[in-house]
Amino acid sequence: MTSYLLKPGELALKGENRKMFEYILKQNLKSMIRGTGAVVERTHGRFFVRCDGDAEVRVEDALAHLFGIAGWAKTQTCEKTVDAILAACVEEAKLLVLHGMRTFKIEARRTDKSFPLDSYGIMRLAGAAVLEAVDGLCVDVHHPQAFIEVEIREKAYVFGAAHDGARGLPVGSAGKGMLLLSGGIDSPVAGWLMGSRGLRLDAVYFHAYPYTSDEARQKVITLSKIISRYTLGLMLHIVSFTGVEQRIKAHAPEPWLTVLLRMAMMECAEAIAWKRGCKSLITGESLSQVASQTMENIACTQSRTRLPIFRPLIGMDKERIVSIGEKIGTYEISILPYEDCCVLFSPPHPILRGDVDEAKQRYEALELSALLEEAIATSEIQCC
Ligand code: ATP
Ligand code: MG
Repeated sequence: MTSYLLKPGELALKGENRKMFEYILKQNLKSMIRGTGAVVERTHGRFFVRCDGDAEVRVEDALAHLFGIAGWAKTQTCEKTVDAILAACVEEAKLLVLHGMRTFKIEARRTDKSFPLDSYGIMRLAGAAVLEAVDGLCVDVHHPQAFIEVEIREKAYVFGAAHDGARGLPVGSAGKGMLLLSGGIDSPVAGWLMGSRGLRLDAVYFHAYPYTSDEARQKVITLSKIISRYTLGLMLHIVSFTGVEQRIKAHAPEPWLTVLLRMAMMECAEAIAWKRGCKSLITGESLSQVASQTMENIACTQSRTRLPIFRPLIGMDKERIVSIGEKIGTYEISILPYEDCCVLFSPPHPILRGDVDEAKQRYEALELSALLEEAIATSEIQCC
């Protein structure tokens, strides 16, 4: 039987509603490991997952995708004897060396006061045992690269090499949001970040066949699947926007094309959000990254909507966004060469600081309501 200890992150800071967050965390983890035979247990204020050896890969994969924990560590359970505990510590220390660690610290907790050594005594003996048995590790009590933790309860538990968790808050604890997901680098990262704040996600992708290709559409489905591993599923709405784009292209002055298109996307996303119980919209906008994302143009694009719009990338530079995309596995899909933005909508001289009233007037003059309704009615749903 293998045990894993879950390390709480931000959840530990919660007060009265901590129980509610923990309940959601547990339900989420249970659904991620369904079918493996693994069980989630809560003992003495800590979460453990226990499973058979052949379920380890799936359980570890679930833990790596679980929002709401700072990390997790495989735990050795041993007899409550000094010899057994020291041997387990030495074994963990060898693993730390294999992971490239150079410094460590032992931490011990003893809730069973009948155990003959106190916490300090355990730390001293275990530290000495590791130093004697393992080459290449030294003690650093202030800034260790790794901890070996010992807990003496009904049994003795020893855990070392901790893995980083996805952090944040459990998915669903904040309700549900609608992600505007293009095939680009930014919006998948934005969705992941809001998932990490506890949002369950739906996503909407505006497709403009034949101006945008089937490969671009497939790319968005693949991105949705990657995000959905963290968000326990994701409902993707694929909306055909060809008619809307053609109307805008035919009737609006060229510098205004992108801003007006973004306004239409927002309005449409909000309509689907209401239907699906999503109480916020999420975009991958980053201030001044492109012409449509200046402060003034953002004011124009949001002028058709009432739901709060979350833009977690607004203050990030591209490098930071890319590094998150690489970490979560969306970047390599995002950079596949199929553009999501149709060529119709890349005016050479876009307006940089649109006036909101003018934007609203121009938008209303397009009379898009019927086209938007039709686009929503004919949208396709993919469960990712
Ligand atoms: P991304 O990398 O996310 O595509 P971007 O830097 O290319 O972003 P824009 O193309 O200006 O920026 O889009 C701004 C935001 O509008 C995107 O982050 C996304 O949330 C939304 N968006 C753009 N195009 C689409 C689309 N075809 N379908 C759904 N949402 C879109
Ligand atoms: Mg884009």
